[in-house]
Amino acid sequence: MPIPNASYWLREHNKLHKRIDLDADALDALYRAKLRQINKQIEAFYAKYAVDNIITVEQAKTMLTPREFSIFNNKLKYWIKDGSYSNDLSFMASLDRMVGVSKIDRLQRLETEITANLSELKQTQLISMEDSLIKTYEETENAVINVSDVEFKQTSEYKIRVVINTEFQGRRFSPRVWSERSHMTTKVKKTLMDNFVSGNNWNELNTDLKRTFGVSDYEARRLLVTETARINSVAKESSFINAGYEYYQYISVDDDRTTDICNNLDDKVFRFSEMVVGVNAPPTHVYCRSTIVPYMA
Ligand SMILES: [Zn+2]
Repeated sequence: MPIPNASYWLREHNKLHKRIDLDADALDALYRAKLRQINKQIEAFYAKYAVDNIITVEQAKTMLTPREFSIFNNKLKYWIKDGSYSNDLSFMASLDRMVGVSKIDRLQRLETEITANLSELKQTQLISMEDSLIKTYEETENAVINVSDVEFKQTSEYKIRVVINTEFQGRRFSPRVWSERSHMTTKVKKTLMDNFVSGNNWNELNTDLKRTFGVSDYEARRLLVTETARINSVAKESSFINAGYEYYQYISVDDDRTTDICNNLDDKVFRFSEMVVGVNAPPTHVYCRSTIVPYMA
């Protein structure tokens, strides 16, 4: 079989990472748009309940009027029935709990409405991450098919989805996204309470929220890059074996961000039969940008 030199695979790898950068930028845009929406919810809360631009804890914890309660309760029932949040198990559980209570205060309502928005954000993130990872698998496989003289078929989207949703280091990636949603909700709740306690206006609150979103957006980018490395390795493993290769070489991206783990593995050769993603194939750490190329012994 003709073996393209390493520069072919590195070119493909650079192409892949250029697209991943764009996909990650799209995630940034998603986070910015959601932050704007949540800011509007909080702004409206201030517009309605603030006195001199400040909301006290007491004002925030005032119970909803019977009319407000009934409107909100209907909303909860609708959300439970509608199923839009059904992938977010912990939010669904909290909706179930809340729909059964007889009193809800303003802050609980606001927190629930914000959580619904965060849940939508994470759902959209999951869908776009999955799309990106499917593309990664297909592009990686095609890069091998295009230069291989052994003919083999592309993997079906169904099988790719199974690979994407396989556990890696004890966890599938979607629960990571959902636990990050819970984490964001906790931080937003704390931000709200801290700001009500210290009597801040909503501009100050805004700065805190921006920080929370910035951290979570960074986590999302990091997860995308790490999962991309995993899918890239798995797709290469199966397509290189299909193309008749027995060995691969670990190639790390050589720059000032390269980790010791990847520096130590750089250029090392392994058999596909011994390949373990996370040990001798990327990602060997979070945010890993290394890859593998076929090797002729
Ligand atoms: Zn690495």
